[in-house]
Amino acid sequence: MTTDGLDSTSAHSATAAPDWTSADLDTLRAKFYQLYIAVEQSPAATAITDTDGRIEYVNQRFLDVTGYSREELIGRTPAMIQSGMTPEGIYHDMWQTLRSGRVWQGELLNRKKNGELYWEAETLTPVRDDSGEIVNFVAVKEDITERKRQEEELKLLASVFQTGQATLITDADMRIERVNQAFTDITGYSEEEVIGLTPKLFKSGRHDKAFYARLWQAVLETGHWQGEIWNRNKYGEIYPLWQSITAVYDTNGKVRHFIAVFHNIAERKRMESELEHQATRDHLTGTHNRRAFDAAMRKAIRQAERSDNTFSLLLFDIDHFKAVNDQHGHDTGDIILKRLAALVGHTLRSTDLLARWGGEEFAILLQDTSAQGGTVFAERLRQQVAETRLNGLALTISMGIAEYRRSDTPEAILARADSALYRAKRAGRNRVGIAD
Ligand code: GH3
Ligand code: MG
Ligand code: MG
Repeated sequence: MTTDGLDSTSAHSATAAPDWTSADLDTLRAKFYQLYIAVEQSPAATAITDTDGRIEYVNQRFLDVTGYSREELIGRTPAMIQSGMTPEGIYHDMWQTLRSGRVWQGELLNRKKNGELYWEAETLTPVRDDSGEIVNFVAVKEDITERKRQEEELKLLASVFQTGQATLITDADMRIERVNQAFTDITGYSEEEVIGLTPKLFKSGRHDKAFYARLWQAVLETGHWQGEIWNRNKYGEIYPLWQSITAVYDTNGKVRHFIAVFHNIAERKRMESELEHQATRDHLTGTHNRRAFDAAMRKAIRQAERSDNTFSLLLFDIDHFKAVNDQHGHDTGDIILKRLAALVGHTLRSTDLLARWGGEEFAILLQDTSAQGGTVFAERLRQQVAETRLNGLALTISMGIAEYRRSDTPEAILARADSALYRAKRAGRNRVGIAD
């Protein structure tokens, strides 16, 4: 039988060489010994089996790896080192490949004599005799347990990378090497779109050169920076991020990578400003509350103390509002309070501050305004309210105004404005009282 172009006739004549001299046999013996030593000392575990898989030879490395002795292995099949954890299909495929005369390569999980599991990459080769018949199989095995462990670890790290916060890895020249899914979710850019580019792509234009200079100085000097940064996504939208940038060094202390990890804080900032809004606003009218007004007045006093600036405080109270409630109901009273707040709000400059002081009493802080200027403003407002029907009703307000005096306390200014308001009420309402 001839396979693979082997010439069986010439092969037979080579082995059946009865007329070899003893010198030929010596050479042959020496050659055989050389091969034997090479296999015996090979760092690859090697076994030779017959066609039924029964072990005929194993080298030293095979014994070292498995922990079995030669006596325990010879005549047995490699089933004794199987872990029982390799799918049947793999052995099936192995035998089919070998019996059809082809080389089989694969990875198998095996078990040592002491029970320990280990991974092997195996190359199984059918060996033919001179007639082309398969007579043996040779197994050469490499222990790949460590490689498998590293692969598992890499797989684990990759899954952490993929499921964690948005992450971007660059080389030392800041060219993007890798990004993860969360990065794509936030920025809109796929991996293919950003690989090889630098993070300059994400600049929003919201930060000046000095900001980036400080950032990179911190990264290069301390290996780390974190903070708030505004970036631009693929669709041109600008959004705030909390970002940390870390330099990764090689064993010589040279930067190999930069890793940026970030998350979108737009929602957090929105909630913060919402909370801040709620904490400083009056629920019914949406104007500032007393607390916010108090803070603004303290600030105005500090500024006035440090400069020649002055400011005025205006208090006003609706005239006969109790009667409105009594005649039209409390709900109508509430609507009127809201409409009045809106009307007054429209007359103010952006630097002025309107607050609901309590009940149907309001306060206005007029920046950079003397009592004289404040009185003109107050008079105009009084008139406007008197001329405007709020929810169909004609109403008037009485007002008291006081200007800041050197070393005033908030309480002192308020008391002066309050007594000016009181005088306006006493004098017949719908008028402006000026503190002396
Ligand atoms: P005056 O001209 O002296 O100010 O008379 P007035 O009736 O307005 O008297 P005062 O300012 O003392 O009364 C405040 C009234 O405002 C009492 C209450 O019925 C009404 N009021 C206070 N807070 C609210 C509110 O939140 N909603 C409504 N609808 N009414 C309020
Ligand atoms: Mg009133
Ligand atoms: Mg009142």
